Amino acid sequence: MTFGDLAWNAGWAKPALTVACLALFWSWESIWPFFAPSRQRLRHGGHNIALAVFNTLVLSLVFGAATVGAAHWAASRHFGLLHQLPLAWPARLLLALLLLDAWLYVWHRLNHHIPLLWRFHRVHHADDAMDVTTATRFHLGELSAAAVLRLGLIPLLGIEVTHLLVHETLVVAATMFHHANISLGRWDAPLRWVIVTPFMHKVHHSHYRPETNSNYSVLFSWWDRLASTFRTRDDYATLKMGLDEFDGDRWQTFLGMLRTPLVNVRPQLPPKATGENGTSDG
Ligand SMILES: [Zn+2]
Ligand SMILES: [Zn+2]
Repeated sequence: MTFGDLAWNAGWAKPALTVACLALFWSWESIWPFFAPSRQRLRHGGHNIALAVFNTLVLSLVFGAATVGAAHWAASRHFGLLHQLPLAWPARLLLALLLLDAWLYVWHRLNHHIPLLWRFHRVHHADDAMDVTTATRFHLGELSAAAVLRLGLIPLLGIEVTHLLVHETLVVAATMFHHANISLGRWDAPLRWVIVTPFMHKVHHSHYRPETNSNYSVLFSWWDRLASTFRTRDDYATLKMGLDEFDGDRWQTFLGMLRTPLVNVRPQLPPKATGENGTSDG
């Protein structure tokens, strides 16, 4: 496979998988929704997906070839941590996935605690009717900053193009899964010892700020357990999603989402939560 082929495949694999996962989880939450679906479900999903299409077009144009190029450059020079370790390819792939996932945890947590980054990340949290389409709702500013940092991270860690493709595939499938308006019932608790589940991520989208600032993991859930940011609730059905500062339909539109980082709002005092316990489960 030539370098050009790799760049082409890396550019198209993610959108194709996104569409397939969207269709799968949209169907699941249509048949067995956890929360009663909003009356404006199609309109809500349409605006979130419009933002995703816009982001994908811009990001693949600006960063697609550069990201693959950075991995290719590191591999051709045996540069970066993973190229220095005498590991067989399965162990190298596993370590790359762990390193990339740990980085996503750190990056996500920074997005909640650095005010400038939160301005962009709050676009994702301002969704008051979380469903599978919320997995695509990110501001271009946040995704561009992540892409720039990743351009430095790839050669430092010695991440290969294959690692990136496998990681992106898993991240797309995992984020669609844990944002979907579905419930795994009693299977959620054992599964969240390994991966981020729908209940675990619902807590992260709570309007109650101590819950919003928890459960940052993306693929594997153990980063939150290791860093003591893991949180559950007694009752998930009473959970209110979104941000009180961005209540209202005007923040749920394509243009409203683009404007969200630009406005100055006074953070509200944390409202009292219902059904939260703030503890780790077993
Ligand atoms: Zn977040
Ligand atoms: Zn989310």
